[in-house]
Amino acid sequence: MSDPLIRLDNLTVAYERHPAVHHVSGTIYSGSLTAIAGPNGAGKSTLLKAIMGELRPAEGRISHQLKRTDFGYLPQAAEINRRFPICVFDAVLFGAWPNSGAFGRVSSEDTDKARAALSAVGLQGFEKRHIGSLSAGQFQRVLFARLLLQDAKVILLDEPFNAIDARTTRDLLEIVARWHGDGRTVVAVLHDFDQVRAHFPETLLIARTLIGWGPTGDVMSPANLLKARAMAERWDEDAQACEPAA
Ligand code: ADP
Ligand code: MG
Repeated sequence: MSDPLIRLDNLTVAYERHPAVHHVSGTIYSGSLTAIAGPNGAGKSTLLKAIMGELRPAEGRISHQLKRTDFGYLPQAAEINRRFPICVFDAVLFGAWPNSGAFGRVSSEDTDKARAALSAVGLQGFEKRHIGSLSAGQFQRVLFARLLLQDAKVILLDEPFNAIDARTTRDLLEIVARWHGDGRTVVAVLHDFDQVRAHFPETLLIARTLIGWGPTGDVMSPANLLKARAMAERWDEDAQACEPAA
């Protein structure tokens, strides 16, 4: 087993004091490839943001020796504004910011790397295209190229293949496998259980509280999945109970 990289200790994360993730403890090991799975509203995105330090624990703690720039993060598609007037090449080049500083000079090494990253994701020739003109799959390739350039130790992906065509998904899964082969630590929120089983050796299954965390085959058991679903149904009932009485 490799070294512990990030420890979660009784972690609770809340919005306006309403906990979205309760009392999660466990370890992300260096070089591991982990899926975060669970129903809608389970706290998966919240957990990812807490891991990268964008959200603070309401209780418990996250410990690691990493810097903010050691994390590469791909937000859920809904959180990205694609109308921002920028071309593909510049969008990828922004991945170099952690190294050059926001107002630093972009080196010719960076532009070479950006070109290489675009070709690694199959987008050579797209450099001058406006990002708003791309298909969902092409845009996701741009974001992966950006992560390639960023060269982060820990890569956090939030539903990277949601609404993405099969061919792009396959190509991007290959990049994930390459990151894993390089020894990077990768954590991805996924909702496709077959994808989780096929490509992710470790799984963290959450339904606001932790249901399981360990080897995917153990965690994604029918009993655990049933438990996750039952917990999600209970939130739905709670939501109904909050509606004003007729
Ligand atoms: P998932 O990614 O598993 O679908 P989220 O982490 O997005 O779940 O959300 C977990 C819970 O936290 C949900 O009940 C959601 O409504 C709530 N939540 C998420 N983001 C916010 C926010 N910015 N403000 C308030 N509540 C939020
Ligand atoms: Mg989410």
